Amino acid sequence: YYPDTQSISYTTLTRFPPVKLLAPEKRKRVLVTGGAGFVGSHLVDRLMLLGHEVTVLDNFFTGSKTTVGHWVGHPNFELVRHDVVEPYMTECDQIYHLACPASPPHYQFNSIKTVKTSFMGTLNMLGLAKRTKARFLITSTSEVYGDPEVHPQPEDYWGHVNPIGIRACYDEGKRVAETLTYGYHRQNGVDVRVARIFNTYGPRMNPLDGRVVSNFIMQALRGEDMTIYGDGKQTRSFQFIHDLVDGLIALMNSDETRPVNIGNSDEFTIGEFAELVREIVEKVQREDGTPARHRVQIVYKPMPQDDPQKRRPDTTRARQVLDWQPRWSVRMGLEEMVRYYKTKMEEGSI
Ligand code: NAD
Ligand code: UDP
Ligand code: UDP
Repeated sequence: YYPDTQSISYTTLTRFPPVKLLAPEKRKRVLVTGGAGFVGSHLVDRLMLLGHEVTVLDNFFTGSKTTVGHWVGHPNFELVRHDVVEPYMTECDQIYHLACPASPPHYQFNSIKTVKTSFMGTLNMLGLAKRTKARFLITSTSEVYGDPEVHPQPEDYWGHVNPIGIRACYDEGKRVAETLTYGYHRQNGVDVRVARIFNTYGPRMNPLDGRVVSNFIMQALRGEDMTIYGDGKQTRSFQFIHDLVDGLIALMNSDETRPVNIGNSDEFTIGEFAELVREIVEKVQREDGTPARHRVQIVYKPMPQDDPQKRRPDTTRARQVLDWQPRWSVRMGLEEMVRYYKTKMEEGSI
């Protein structure tokens, strides 16, 4: 399925994976803000392999130079330390605007900065798109639906967000970023794309970022208790990173200017998900001949404030207009991620 990603092994990366030679008229100058983060680095890999010229803007708040280190020095690649709340001038054809912390502990660490990043960062990148006539894609989120009263969530659902709660800096930040995006579209004719991304996981996710998939896998691999917040009856639907990158590139290159949900509709309670992760970690350890330890325990911790009770994307629009649907089952994706973390732990790099 993934000829372009298959040539990259996430556990044994070499410098300069082989890129396609694109005719100059097909080669795009692509700006990726937040390109050193989890999603951004995978998107950069794909765009580079396809033969485009890629510039990454990142302030390295939650991202790291190592996620794109294998491209540094490549003639098609540029890595720029820049905070998107400050203006930035360049010439480009497409902008993927991802810059924004995505994990609750990270975006709550400095909530004012999170709102500034969403508002001022998006304003600057839209100003840049207006000046250069570049096509602009923003990675919005399922969080714009808040704690939803409609299930699953279609794009025309307006959401149920607490504007003053601890998640508001992220949720309302993304909502105003969408508002700005459609303002520039209507007033200034900027060509826009809006992806509403649902929970995504995969290799290179920061193991310490506090999100549920990285927490559960790291806890199970280390033989520590797995921490469920609340009673574990809340639900989420998990998508593997390669499916998301497919969806983002398909959306950028489509004619769809309305928001599009990109997610996997396989829904789990967090309790079920903890058991699935534990089972997959045990399977990988058995297959690798890792000596069996005690079975890790599942423990319960207090539920964070405003934690959405349920979440599942309605992906009808993505199927109809992008001809896109997820291809990685949660089991396949989790196994890949467990192997990645396990190798990195054995190397001592995480
Ligand atoms: P991440 O935290 O790994 O990556 C975010 C990147 O943005 C990091 O490299 C960080 O250093 C950079 N950044 C943050 N603030 C910045 C600023 N002011 N200026 C420049 N760079 C800045 O998160 P991710 O999971 O890769 O998320 C990427 C995008 O996708 C975000 O916009 C996020 O809201 C969106 N998204 C992700 C998910 C998910 O499950 N991963 C779900 C919904 C939406
Ligand atoms: N901007 C930028 N790069 C550009 C063009 C604009 O960072 O190449 C910023 C600009 O500094 C401004 C924002 O984008 O803060 C919005 O630009 P716009 O031209 O829409 O608004 P104005 O400058 O008229 O307020
Ligand atoms: N969660 C959990 N244990 C953890 C981390 C998270 O039970 O160690 C729960 C969290 O309360 C939420 C769900 O898992 O209900 C997804 O959390 P995450 O932070 O990954 O994403 P989001 O809440 O933004 O969807």
